[in-house]
Amino acid sequence: MAKFKLEYLWLDGREPIPELRGKTTIKEYDSTPTLAELPLWGFDGSSTMQAEGHSSDCVLKPVALYPDAARTNAFLVMCEVLMPDKTPHPTNKRATAPDDADFWFGFEQEYFLYKDGKPLGFPKDGFPGPQGPYYCGAGYKYMGSIARQIVEEHLDLCLAAGINHEGINAEVAKGQWEFQIFGKGSHKAADDMWVARYLMMRLCEKYEVDVIWHCKPIRGDWNGSGMHTNFSFGHLRDVGGKEYFEKLMAAFKDSREDHIAVYGPDNHLRLTGLHETAPITEFRYGLSDRGASIRMPVNFIRDGYKGYLEDRRPNSEADPYQIVAQVVKTVNSVEKK
Ligand code: ADP
Ligand code: MN
Ligand code: MN
Ligand code: MN
Repeated sequence: MAKFKLEYLWLDGREPIPELRGKTTIKEYDSTPTLAELPLWGFDGSSTMQAEGHSSDCVLKPVALYPDAARTNAFLVMCEVLMPDKTPHPTNKRATAPDDADFWFGFEQEYFLYKDGKPLGFPKDGFPGPQGPYYCGAGYKYMGSIARQIVEEHLDLCLAAGINHEGINAEVAKGQWEFQIFGKGSHKAADDMWVARYLMMRLCEKYEVDVIWHCKPIRGDWNGSGMHTNFSFGHLRDVGGKEYFEKLMAAFKDSREDHIAVYGPDNHLRLTGLHETAPITEFRYGLSDRGASIRMPVNFIRDGYKGYLEDRRPNSEADPYQIVAQVVKTVNSVEKK
């Protein structure tokens, strides 16, 4: 028998975007536990904006399991929140996205690392040199010193956890970074994203650095942060076609407001038409067009309107479960022929 530290993670009731909560339970197993061997657990919902004080118990149901390389004999356990009768809690948005293996999602998470109220590498007073050299840059004068150390440590923690990272890069603004996560199935990439966010925030505690997920932390001529959402499904990958594609885009245009509603708060500050975005009030698509709402990758038309699409509108703070639920809903509203 060995004792394991299990960090149960869940999303709280904060509006409009939940925050991560976590607590540890120690359990004994003969060998490494599987998801099915993990018990339900509970927490005080009155402390997380998920219940009233007089009836405060909420239930945690493990839904995904990740090795936790920062602790010995430890796992991270992503959970859904249930009511005492085991039905989904109203704040449980994962339960609103059907678990569909046909959908694949790739998220590009942008974020800022902040110390003492400003991005890492910003001078004490005023601003650093303008954007240009920071994107995928190298050298102390552009990158500072601890940012890359944090980013590399986070990458290793995510890979050790089995999170399907596809890459990392320094972004356009100073102190801004990105990582990409891909997953097959409508839940996998979204589960991985929340756990990757948790690992980043926990890691940064020891550096006294804050992770800023907000989509436009620095006003003016500085890029905001997005979470471009790349998606595909069997019909788009294997059949596609111009006629189907145009029907699909018409459905996205008609549901523009429903999408914007779950694509993250304050997105009007970011989707201005500048800085590689389309205005929030418009819907347009284009080939290789980084000023479009939805971008077709460079080979998409040549391949017969087949492959995947990039919705560029979701922002860095958006809840991936809500994004996935809305994309799946809009796609499923269009007849596949
Ligand atoms: P860019 O910065 O040029 O938009 P990235 O390389 O950062 O591109 O991100 C591209 C994303 O597309 C990756 O997250 C990748 O996982 C995702 N992707 C690639 N193929 C598919 C597919 N068939 N279905 C869904 N997502 C995909
Ligand atoms: Mn990218
Ligand atoms: Mn980017
Ligand atoms: Mn992108």
